[in-house]
Amino acid sequence: MQKRKLVIIGSGPAGYTAAIYAARANLEPLLFEGFYSGPAGGQLMTTTDVENYPGFPEGIQGPELMLLCRKQAERFGSEILTEDVKEVFLSSHPFKIVASKTEVEADAIIVATGATANRLDVEGTRDGEFWQRGVTACAVCDGAAPIFRDRDLYVVGGGDTACEEAIFLTKYGKKVYLIHRRDELRASKIMGERAIKHPKIEVVWDHVLAKVEGDSVVQSVTLKNVKTGLEQKRDAGGLFFAIGFNPNTAFLQGQLALESNGYLKITPGTSYTSVEGVFAAGDVHDHVYRQAVSAAGSGCMAALDAERWLSSQGLID
Ligand SMILES: Cc1cc2nc3c(=O)[nH]c(=O)nc-3n(C[C@H](O)[C@H](O)[C@H](O)COP(=O)(O)OP(=O)(O)OC[C@H]3O[C@@H](n4cnc5c(N)ncnc54)[C@H](O)[C@@H]3O)c2cc1C
Repeated sequence: MQKRKLVIIGSGPAGYTAAIYAARANLEPLLFEGFYSGPAGGQLMTTTDVENYPGFPEGIQGPELMLLCRKQAERFGSEILTEDVKEVFLSSHPFKIVASKTEVEADAIIVATGATANRLDVEGTRDGEFWQRGVTACAVCDGAAPIFRDRDLYVVGGGDTACEEAIFLTKYGKKVYLIHRRDELRASKIMGERAIKHPKIEVVWDHVLAKVEGDSVVQSVTLKNVKTGLEQKRDAGGLFFAIGFNPNTAFLQGQLALESNGYLKITPGTSYTSVEGVFAAGDVHDHVYRQAVSAAGSGCMAALDAERWLSSQGLID
Protein backbone atom coordinates (compact mmCIF):
# COMPACT_ATOMS: atom_id res chain seq x y z
CA MET A 1 0.00 0.00 0.00
CA GLN A 2 1.34 3.45 -0.89
CA LYS A 3 2.04 5.87 1.94
CA ARG A 4 1.74 9.68 1.80
CA LYS A 5 2.71 12.50 4.10
CA LEU A 6 -0.63 14.19 3.45
CA VAL A 7 -3.92 13.12 1.90
CA ILE A 8 -6.60 15.73 1.15
CA ILE A 9 -10.20 14.56 0.80
CA GLY A 10 -12.45 16.91 -1.16
CA SER A 11 -12.07 19.25 -4.06
CA GLY A 12 -13.79 22.57 -3.60
CA PRO A 13 -12.00 25.85 -2.91
CA ALA A 14 -10.91 24.44 0.48
CA GLY A 15 -9.38 21.21 -0.83
CA TYR A 16 -7.62 22.78 -3.81
CA THR A 17 -6.24 25.64 -1.71
CA ALA A 18 -4.96 23.16 0.88
CA ALA A 19 -3.31 21.27 -1.99
CA ILE A 20 -1.64 24.42 -3.36
CA TYR A 21 -0.14 25.27 0.05
CA ALA A 22 0.82 21.69 0.88
CA ALA A 23 2.42 21.07 -2.51
CA ARG A 24 4.43 24.26 -2.25
CA ALA A 25 5.62 23.06 1.17
CA ASN A 26 6.89 19.84 -0.50
CA LEU A 27 4.31 17.64 1.22
CA GLU A 28 3.50 15.99 -2.16
CA PRO A 29 -0.21 15.76 -1.32
CA LEU A 30 -2.59 13.24 -2.79
CA LEU A 31 -6.06 14.71 -3.26
CA PHE A 32 -9.24 12.68 -3.75
CA GLU A 33 -11.59 14.99 -5.61
CA GLY A 34 -14.68 12.80 -5.58
CA PHE A 35 -16.80 11.32 -8.36
CA TYR A 36 -20.28 10.28 -7.22
CA SER A 37 -20.00 12.29 -3.98
CA GLY A 38 -20.59 15.59 -5.76
CA PRO A 39 -19.17 17.41 -8.74
CA ALA A 40 -15.37 17.38 -8.58
CA GLY A 41 -14.62 21.02 -7.93
CA GLY A 42 -17.43 21.33 -5.40
CA GLN A 43 -20.48 23.53 -5.12
CA LEU A 44 -19.18 26.25 -7.45
CA MET A 45 -19.42 23.74 -10.30
CA THR A 46 -23.21 24.13 -10.00
CA THR A 47 -23.27 27.91 -10.37
CA THR A 48 -22.60 30.47 -13.07
CA ASP A 49 -21.25 33.94 -12.16
CA VAL A 50 -19.08 34.25 -9.08
CA GLU A 51 -18.80 37.98 -8.48
CA ASN A 52 -17.41 38.11 -4.94
CA TYR A 53 -14.21 36.09 -5.21
CA PRO A 54 -11.29 38.53 -5.02
CA GLY A 55 -9.07 38.91 -8.07
CA PHE A 56 -11.78 38.78 -10.71
CA PRO A 57 -13.20 42.31 -11.04
CA GLU A 58 -15.50 41.24 -13.88
CA GLY A 59 -16.55 38.05 -12.07
CA ILE A 60 -15.76 34.53 -13.19
CA GLN A 61 -17.83 31.43 -13.94
CA GLY A 62 -17.82 28.97 -11.02
CA PRO A 63 -16.54 25.97 -13.02
CA GLU A 64 -13.77 28.08 -14.62
CA LEU A 65 -12.61 29.29 -11.19
CA MET A 66 -12.44 25.72 -9.90
CA LEU A 67 -10.56 24.52 -12.98
CA LEU A 68 -7.98 27.26 -12.38
CA CYS A 69 -7.64 26.25 -8.70
CA ARG A 70 -7.21 22.61 -9.74
CA LYS A 71 -4.52 23.53 -12.28
CA GLN A 72 -2.71 25.62 -9.69
CA ALA A 73 -2.71 22.68 -7.26
CA GLU A 74 -1.31 20.38 -9.97
CA ARG A 75 1.32 22.90 -11.04
CA PHE A 76 3.09 22.52 -7.69
CA GLY A 77 2.93 18.74 -7.75
CA SER A 78 -0.34 17.69 -6.12
CA GLU A 79 -1.61 14.36 -7.38
CA ILE A 80 -5.36 14.35 -7.95
CA LEU A 81 -7.49 11.20 -8.14
CA THR A 82 -11.12 11.36 -9.31
CA GLU A 83 -12.38 8.93 -6.68
CA ASP A 84 -14.65 8.99 -3.65
CA VAL A 85 -13.24 8.21 -0.25
CA LYS A 86 -15.47 5.51 1.23
CA GLU A 87 -13.87 4.96 4.64
CA VAL A 88 -11.11 6.28 6.87
CA PHE A 89 -9.45 4.47 9.76
CA LEU A 90 -8.10 6.96 12.26
CA SER A 91 -7.60 4.97 15.45
CA SER A 92 -4.03 3.98 14.58
CA HIS A 93 -1.21 5.84 12.89
CA PRO A 94 -0.44 6.09 9.99
CA PHE A 95 -4.08 6.61 9.08
CA LYS A 96 -5.71 4.48 6.42
CA ILE A 97 -7.92 5.85 3.64
CA VAL A 98 -10.04 3.61 1.44
CA ALA A 99 -11.29 5.18 -1.79
CA SER A 100 -13.24 3.66 -4.70
CA LYS A 101 -10.14 2.13 -6.31
CA THR A 102 -7.20 3.19 -4.17
CA GLU A 103 -6.12 2.44 -0.61
CA VAL A 104 -3.48 4.64 0.94
CA GLU A 105 -1.82 5.32 4.28
CA ALA A 106 -1.20 8.89 5.39
CA ASP A 107 0.64 10.67 8.18
CA ALA A 108 -1.86 13.53 8.07
CA ILE A 109 -5.27 14.11 6.50
CA ILE A 110 -7.20 17.22 5.56
CA VAL A 111 -10.95 16.72 5.25
CA ALA A 112 -12.48 19.25 2.84
CA THR A 113 -15.55 17.44 1.59
CA GLY A 114 -17.87 20.44 1.84
CA ALA A 115 -21.61 20.36 2.08
CA THR A 116 -24.51 19.90 -0.29
CA ALA A 117 -27.30 22.47 -0.51
CA ASN A 118 -30.72 20.89 -0.11
CA ARG A 119 -33.13 21.49 -2.97
CA LEU A 120 -36.73 20.42 -3.51
CA ASP A 121 -37.48 18.32 -6.55
CA VAL A 122 -40.12 20.63 -8.00
CA GLU A 123 -40.97 21.13 -11.67
CA GLY A 124 -39.00 24.04 -13.12
CA THR A 125 -36.27 24.07 -10.48
CA ARG A 126 -34.11 21.23 -11.75
CA ASP A 127 -30.82 21.27 -13.63
CA GLY A 128 -31.57 22.11 -17.26
CA GLU A 129 -34.80 23.91 -16.20
CA PHE A 130 -34.44 27.18 -14.24
CA TRP A 131 -31.68 26.09 -11.84
CA GLN A 132 -29.15 28.92 -12.01
CA ARG A 133 -31.52 30.87 -14.25
CA GLY A 134 -33.35 32.45 -11.35
CA VAL A 135 -33.46 29.42 -9.06
CA THR A 136 -30.58 29.11 -6.62
CA ALA A 137 -29.65 27.99 -3.12
CA CYS A 138 -27.46 30.87 -2.02
CA ALA A 139 -28.90 34.35 -1.52
CA VAL A 140 -25.63 35.84 -0.28
CA CYS A 141 -23.86 34.53 -3.39
CA ASP A 142 -26.42 35.31 -6.05
CA GLY A 143 -28.82 37.90 -4.61
CA ALA A 144 -27.07 40.91 -6.13
CA ALA A 145 -27.39 39.59 -9.70
CA PRO A 146 -29.23 42.01 -12.02
CA ILE A 147 -32.06 39.52 -12.76
CA PHE A 148 -33.25 39.79 -9.15
CA ARG A 149 -33.28 43.61 -8.92
CA ASP A 150 -36.67 45.13 -8.13
CA ARG A 151 -38.49 41.84 -8.72
CA ASP A 152 -40.66 39.80 -6.40
CA LEU A 153 -38.38 37.16 -4.88
CA TYR A 154 -39.45 33.94 -3.19
CA VAL A 155 -37.55 32.09 -0.45
CA VAL A 156 -38.48 28.51 0.45
CA GLY A 157 -37.92 27.63 4.10
CA GLY A 158 -38.81 28.55 7.64
CA GLY A 159 -35.65 28.29 9.70
CA ASP A 160 -33.04 30.87 10.70
CA THR A 161 -31.26 30.60 7.37
CA ALA A 162 -34.45 31.23 5.42
CA CYS A 163 -35.20 34.33 7.54
CA GLU A 164 -31.63 35.61 7.15
CA GLU A 165 -31.69 35.04 3.40
CA ALA A 166 -35.07 36.76 3.07
CA ILE A 167 -33.81 39.78 5.02
CA PHE A 168 -30.64 39.87 2.90
CA LEU A 169 -32.69 39.80 -0.31
CA THR A 170 -34.74 42.85 0.71
CA LYS A 171 -31.71 44.90 -0.41
CA TYR A 172 -32.35 43.86 -3.98
CA GLY A 173 -35.90 42.63 -4.49
CA LYS A 174 -39.09 44.69 -4.72
CA LYS A 175 -40.67 42.39 -2.17
CA VAL A 176 -39.54 39.11 -0.63
CA TYR A 177 -42.02 36.29 0.05
CA LEU A 178 -41.10 33.53 2.45
CA ILE A 179 -42.94 30.35 1.49
CA HIS A 180 -43.55 28.19 4.53
CA ARG A 181 -45.55 24.98 4.68
CA ARG A 182 -46.70 25.46 8.28
CA ASP A 183 -48.40 28.26 10.21
CA GLU A 184 -45.37 29.09 12.34
CA LEU A 185 -41.68 29.44 11.58
CA ARG A 186 -39.03 27.00 12.78
CA ALA A 187 -36.61 29.92 13.14
CA SER A 188 -35.51 31.26 16.53
CA LYS A 189 -37.96 33.80 17.96
CA ILE A 190 -35.66 36.74 17.31
CA MET A 191 -34.92 35.85 13.69
CA GLY A 192 -38.54 34.98 12.97
CA GLU A 193 -39.73 38.29 14.37
CA ARG A 194 -37.16 40.24 12.37
CA ALA A 195 -38.40 38.62 9.19
CA ILE A 196 -42.11 38.91 9.98
CA LYS A 197 -41.83 42.58 10.98
CA HIS A 198 -39.73 43.55 7.97
CA PRO A 199 -41.78 45.86 5.74
CA LYS A 200 -40.50 44.21 2.56
CA ILE A 201 -41.09 40.61 3.70
CA GLU A 202 -44.37 38.72 3.62
CA VAL A 203 -44.63 35.17 4.91
CA VAL A 204 -46.87 32.96 2.78
CA TRP A 205 -48.09 30.57 5.49
CA ASP A 206 -49.32 27.03 4.83
CA HIS A 207 -48.01 26.97 1.27
CA VAL A 208 -45.56 24.86 -0.67
CA LEU A 209 -43.85 25.48 -3.99
CA ALA A 210 -45.65 23.61 -6.78
CA LYS A 211 -43.97 24.86 -9.97
CA VAL A 212 -41.54 27.42 -11.41
CA GLU A 213 -42.00 28.77 -14.94
CA GLY A 214 -40.32 31.36 -17.13
CA ASP A 215 -38.73 32.11 -20.48
CA SER A 216 -34.95 32.42 -20.43
CA VAL A 217 -35.15 33.10 -16.67
CA VAL A 218 -37.76 32.62 -13.92
CA GLN A 219 -40.96 34.63 -14.43
CA SER A 220 -43.44 32.97 -12.07
CA VAL A 221 -43.93 30.56 -9.21
CA THR A 222 -47.02 28.49 -8.47
CA LEU A 223 -47.79 28.00 -4.79
CA LYS A 224 -50.13 25.42 -3.31
CA ASN A 225 -52.07 25.87 -0.09
CA VAL A 226 -51.50 22.71 1.94
CA LYS A 227 -54.84 23.10 3.75
CA THR A 228 -57.16 23.85 0.82
CA GLY A 229 -55.16 22.39 -2.07
CA LEU A 230 -55.73 25.62 -4.03
CA GLU A 231 -52.94 26.75 -6.32
CA GLN A 232 -52.02 30.29 -7.28
CA LYS A 233 -49.54 31.49 -9.89
CA ARG A 234 -47.60 34.62 -9.01
CA ASP A 235 -45.07 36.81 -10.86
CA ALA A 236 -41.55 36.12 -9.60
CA GLY A 237 -38.02 37.12 -10.51
CA GLY A 238 -36.25 34.51 -8.41
CA LEU A 239 -36.63 31.48 -6.18
CA PHE A 240 -34.19 30.77 -3.38
CA PHE A 241 -34.04 27.44 -1.57
CA ALA A 242 -33.09 27.99 2.08
CA ILE A 243 -33.82 24.55 3.45
CA GLY A 244 -30.44 23.71 4.83
CA PHE A 245 -27.25 21.97 3.86
CA ASN A 246 -25.99 18.45 4.34
CA PRO A 247 -22.35 18.32 5.38
CA ASN A 248 -20.55 15.52 3.53
CA THR A 249 -19.45 13.69 6.68
CA ALA A 250 -21.28 10.34 6.47
CA PHE A 251 -18.05 8.45 5.75
CA LEU A 252 -16.47 9.91 8.92
CA GLN A 253 -19.10 8.58 11.36
CA GLY A 254 -17.46 6.97 14.37
CA GLN A 255 -14.00 8.20 13.35
CA LEU A 256 -14.19 11.95 14.03
CA ALA A 257 -16.36 13.98 16.41
CA LEU A 258 -19.26 15.65 14.64
CA GLU A 259 -21.56 18.44 15.80
CA SER A 260 -25.20 17.53 16.44
CA ASN A 261 -26.04 18.98 12.99
CA GLY A 262 -23.55 16.62 11.31
CA TYR A 263 -20.84 19.21 10.69
CA LEU A 264 -17.27 18.31 11.59
CA LYS A 265 -16.26 19.49 15.04
CA ILE A 266 -13.09 21.58 15.19
CA THR A 267 -11.17 23.47 17.86
CA PRO A 268 -12.42 27.04 17.26
CA GLY A 269 -9.94 29.26 15.45
CA THR A 270 -7.94 26.29 14.14
CA SER A 271 -8.44 23.44 11.68
CA TYR A 272 -7.86 20.79 14.38
CA THR A 273 -10.44 17.99 14.55
CA SER A 274 -10.94 15.52 17.40
CA VAL A 275 -8.08 13.34 16.10
CA GLU A 276 -4.52 14.66 16.14
CA GLY A 277 -3.13 14.78 12.62
CA VAL A 278 -6.54 15.15 10.98
CA PHE A 279 -7.54 18.65 9.94
CA ALA A 280 -10.73 20.16 8.52
CA ALA A 281 -11.27 22.90 5.95
CA GLY A 282 -14.23 24.65 4.39
CA ASP A 283 -17.97 24.05 4.50
CA VAL A 284 -17.57 20.58 6.02
CA HIS A 285 -17.13 22.37 9.35
CA ASP A 286 -18.31 25.90 8.57
CA HIS A 287 -22.07 26.31 8.71
CA VAL A 288 -21.84 30.05 9.32
CA TYR A 289 -19.94 31.75 6.49
CA ARG A 290 -20.24 29.15 3.68
CA GLN A 291 -18.42 31.16 1.03
CA ALA A 292 -15.76 30.19 -1.48
CA VAL A 293 -13.27 32.69 -0.13
CA SER A 294 -13.73 31.58 3.49
CA ALA A 295 -13.42 27.93 2.39
CA ALA A 296 -10.21 28.75 0.52
CA GLY A 297 -8.89 30.61 3.58
CA SER A 298 -9.56 27.64 5.81
CA GLY A 299 -7.86 25.35 3.25
CA CYS A 300 -4.77 27.48 3.70
CA MET A 301 -5.08 27.22 7.51
CA ALA A 302 -5.45 23.43 7.36
CA ALA A 303 -2.37 23.02 5.16
CA LEU A 304 -0.29 25.22 7.47
CA ASP A 305 -1.60 23.39 10.56
CA ALA A 306 -0.85 20.03 8.93
CA GLU A 307 2.67 21.07 7.96
CA ARG A 308 3.42 22.35 11.49
CA TRP A 309 1.96 19.22 13.08
CA LEU A 310 3.96 16.89 10.79
CA SER A 311 7.07 18.84 11.65
CA SER A 312 6.34 18.78 15.40
CA GLN A 313 6.00 14.97 15.23
CA GLY A 314 9.31 14.62 13.35
CA LEU A 315 7.43 13.24 10.33
CA ILE A 316 8.95 15.82 7.97
CA ASP A 317 12.21 17.76 8.09
C1 LIG B 1 -25.70 27.53 -6.02
C2 LIG B 1 -24.52 28.03 -5.21
C3 LIG B 1 -23.91 29.22 -5.59
C4 LIG B 1 -22.82 29.67 -4.85
N1 LIG B 1 -22.23 30.85 -5.24
C5 LIG B 1 -21.20 31.34 -4.52
C6 LIG B 1 -20.58 32.57 -4.89
O1 LIG B 1 -20.98 33.23 -5.85
N2 LIG B 1 -19.54 33.01 -4.11
C7 LIG B 1 -19.08 32.32 -3.01
O2 LIG B 1 -18.13 32.76 -2.37
N3 LIG B 1 -19.66 31.16 -2.65
C8 LIG B 1 -20.70 30.65 -3.37
N4 LIG B 1 -21.30 29.49 -2.98
C9 LIG B 1 -20.82 28.81 -1.78
C10 LIG B 1 -19.53 28.06 -2.12
O3 LIG B 1 -19.72 27.30 -3.28
C11 LIG B 1 -19.10 27.17 -0.97
O4 LIG B 1 -18.99 27.94 0.21
C12 LIG B 1 -17.74 26.53 -1.26
O5 LIG B 1 -17.79 25.83 -2.48
C13 LIG B 1 -17.33 25.57 -0.15
O6 LIG B 1 -16.13 25.00 -0.53
P1 LIG B 1 -15.58 23.65 0.08
O7 LIG B 1 -14.25 23.47 -0.55
O8 LIG B 1 -15.64 23.69 1.55
O9 LIG B 1 -16.57 22.48 -0.36
P2 LIG B 1 -17.43 22.13 -1.65
O10 LIG B 1 -17.41 23.23 -2.65
O11 LIG B 1 -18.74 21.67 -1.12
O12 LIG B 1 -16.64 20.90 -2.29
C14 LIG B 1 -16.43 19.70 -1.67
C15 LIG B 1 -16.28 18.64 -2.73
O13 LIG B 1 -15.54 17.54 -2.17
C16 LIG B 1 -15.86 16.37 -2.86
N5 LIG B 1 -16.21 15.28 -1.94
C17 LIG B 1 -17.27 15.18 -1.09
N6 LIG B 1 -17.25 14.00 -0.44
C18 LIG B 1 -16.15 13.34 -0.89
C19 LIG B 1 -15.59 12.06 -0.61
N7 LIG B 1 -16.14 11.21 0.27
N8 LIG B 1 -14.46 11.70 -1.27
C20 LIG B 1 -13.88 12.55 -2.17
N9 LIG B 1 -14.36 13.76 -2.46
C21 LIG B 1 -15.49 14.15 -1.84
C22 LIG B 1 -17.04 16.66 -3.78
O14 LIG B 1 -16.60 16.85 -5.09
C23 LIG B 1 -17.57 17.96 -3.20
O15 LIG B 1 -18.28 18.64 -4.16
C24 LIG B 1 -22.36 28.96 -3.71
C25 LIG B 1 -22.99 27.77 -3.35
C26 LIG B 1 -24.05 27.30 -4.09
C27 LIG B 1 -24.71 25.99 -3.70
